[in-house]
Amino acid sequence: MHLQLDIRSLLVAVTLASAFCAGARLLLWRMHPALPGLAHWALAGGLATLTLFLILANGITPWPPFLALAQLAVVLGLVMSWDGFRRFIGQPPLSLRTLLGISALALAWIVVAHPMQSLEIKALGNDVLIASLSGLIARELLTTPDDVPPAMRVTGWLYGLNALVFLARVIAVPQGTPAGDPMNPNGIAPFMLLWWLCMIIAVTLGMVLMAAERLQADLDNQANRDHLTGAFNRRAFALIAEKAIARSRRSAKPLSVLVMDLDNFKHVNDRHGHEAGDTLLCRFVVCANKIFRGEDVFCRFGGEEFVALLPNTSAEQAQVAAERLRTVFAAEADMEKTLSMPITVSIGIAERDSDEAIESLLQRADAALYQAKNRGRNRCELAEPA
Ligand code: GH3
Ligand code: MG
Ligand code: MG
Repeated sequence: MHLQLDIRSLLVAVTLASAFCAGARLLLWRMHPALPGLAHWALAGGLATLTLFLILANGITPWPPFLALAQLAVVLGLVMSWDGFRRFIGQPPLSLRTLLGISALALAWIVVAHPMQSLEIKALGNDVLIASLSGLIARELLTTPDDVPPAMRVTGWLYGLNALVFLARVIAVPQGTPAGDPMNPNGIAPFMLLWWLCMIIAVTLGMVLMAAERLQADLDNQANRDHLTGAFNRRAFALIAEKAIARSRRSAKPLSVLVMDLDNFKHVNDRHGHEAGDTLLCRFVVCANKIFRGEDVFCRFGGEEFVALLPNTSAEQAQVAAERLRTVFAAEADMEKTLSMPITVSIGIAERDSDEAIESLLQRADAALYQAKNRGRNRCELAEPA
């Protein structure tokens, strides 16, 4: 296919599209100033537009510093994007040393390459820098410790693809003399401009979707998590428990629940204040998070009462987990010292009987908890069969 592209019109179109994308990023940042990294994305959008503008200016009145500045702006723009992505995903920002190091590298290349008067050599260094930075951004987005959400994954792939395209240009440029000239309609310049157009729009969309993804996750968190301890709340428990019970029914695997209640918690509040009570609640959740597995669902049911749902767990196995949690919590020596009173938890345990509903299961575990309280607290009791 032979494309009849007028390079100057194309350049004007890409510059305009880039400017609109930069505007969209600016708006995104103004709408969500509390999300980290968005200001850097907006700045990166501005630098990308500046790059294109400088290439356009050079096309109108060729002047070597235009291209040199364009090369610097494109590298700085990518560095800003990288820094923004790092901040967005909660990594420490790029150090001043890294920022200065990359800028110095870009500058050094410009100083070395420009007196050579060869567009190919100038383009080559740029391509290597762009490919490396794009690769680094892709790695940053695709290898976060948590699950990578869809928009972030796609944006990561885009940068990976960008790295490959610019690597391909490193190979292509030395093979055809006109290839490196950004205004040569017969070289690869029109394709690079088209690629740039796709990238700037796709990446900006990626950023908007990543922000939306983050805001949605925050909302879900607020709706499903207890504000004080970060454990699931009752609402989330109802939803998750329903699914877990259906799964246990299908697979005919056991499922157990623990109902936990801190002992004499009112005394903590009465003697040391509500804040000390809150700290103790958080400490209990930290202990619970150490004991329960990833598939277990741990939730704050209200006040100082917690419930855990343990899939694939028999009553005997649940009893072992409960006993471990009870001992770990009772061993929080520093809390005991600060509060100058024993800190303990009582736990009721029940394994789901075939076809038993969650309400009945919780009731039996609750009755077992009541028994644990009656038998002197700081103990675990197994529920009567249904
Ligand atoms: P028991 O051993 O029988 O469970 O006695 P208890 O004192 O733990 O139980 P009780 O139900 O008498 O008291 C629970 C207290 O928990 C009363 C309430 O003020 C307090 N509480 C409920 N929610 C919170 C909270 O979010 N933070 C704090 N600090 N206290 C809370
Ligand atoms: Mg209590
Ligand atoms: Mg209670």
